[in-house]
Amino acid sequence: MIDPFGRAVNYLRVSVTDRCDFRCTYCMSENMTFLPKKDVLSLEELELITAAFIRKGVRKVRLTGGEPLVRKGIIELIRSLGRYIDSGELDELTLTTNGSQLAKYSDDLYAAGVRRLNVSMDTLDAKRFNEITRWGNLDKVMAGLDAAQNAGLKIKINAVAVRGVNDHETDELIRWTGSRDMDITFIETMPMGSIDERRSSRFLPLSELKETIMKNWTLNPTDYKTGGPSDYMTVQETGNRIGFITPLSHNFCESCNRVRLTCTGMLYMCLGQEDSANLKDVIRSENGIYKLDGAIDEAIGRKPKGHDFVIDRNSDNSPAVPRHMSVTGG
Ligand code: SAM
Ligand code: SF4
Repeated sequence: MIDPFGRAVNYLRVSVTDRCDFRCTYCMSENMTFLPKKDVLSLEELELITAAFIRKGVRKVRLTGGEPLVRKGIIELIRSLGRYIDSGELDELTLTTNGSQLAKYSDDLYAAGVRRLNVSMDTLDAKRFNEITRWGNLDKVMAGLDAAQNAGLKIKINAVAVRGVNDHETDELIRWTGSRDMDITFIETMPMGSIDERRSSRFLPLSELKETIMKNWTLNPTDYKTGGPSDYMTVQETGNRIGFITPLSHNFCESCNRVRLTCTGMLYMCLGQEDSANLKDVIRSENGIYKLDGAIDEAIGRKPKGHDFVIDRNSDNSPAVPRHMSVTGG
């Protein structure tokens, strides 16, 4: 699949649920209204659409959410998609997870063909972890990380950098991930969905964070590329990679290789734009499965050149993109 700007689309991110067992302050408000179940694709429908993308050249699938591992029956979907790894049609099947269910599922994930996970963790302080996630428990996530590493899964930690919340913990996070042989990526907050506080007061540009980090650590350039918004370096002292996702401060769109499917079957060609294609209506229509390939081609033909996120420091709390990250999956 080649888009109008000549970019090959070979990476599909699938948000399998908008629900979550956490309520991270930058992601959700405390009282969220979730999607009605009838609007959510069944696991079979998710597999059908994902399989169509794989046939059309997608080589990497990432399941995300909401929290992917709280969706009932998710391991069945992961097992089904894992068969495309066995057959060589897919290079990678992976997940972004908050880690809360990893103690339970790590062995199953490995058996299904998953080899790497992104686990979101912004702090090593139990009290702060609870403040950020509202409903999360750090010990449980730590036990999940132990289980994942014991199962043979390679972990990358994602930490959202929030001013005044975890910016003073950066060194500790780098030291700790290094000691556990995990890579780490810092993420700038993105203005997606309404939350309970002003975003601008918490916004921390990663250029600033990177400067602080470079006072204590030697960061060497690396040619490691994912085709995504993360800019990777190697931390000389730990030997592990550190990434910076800076969608607001830099333009990474030229190399964008991905599209996003939500749990309601909406295909978003760009995280920061509203344009979408309704693949649920396509597959639920008469003879829909025969129309799916055409609908995907038509959507890829509309992939925009780039996003236009702006956090306006003087404006009210209205987000640049109205849907929550938990709907599109980050
Ligand atoms: N629940 C899973 C998790 O937390 O890893 C997967 C979904 S979550 C929406 C995916 C990633 O998006 C997480 O790393 C999370 O920290 C990040 N995220 C959520 N809201 C964000 C925002 N407004 N700006 C930047 N990153 C955000
Ligand atoms: Fe849930 Fe992930 Fe959003 Fe946190 S960032 S509320 S864990 S979906």
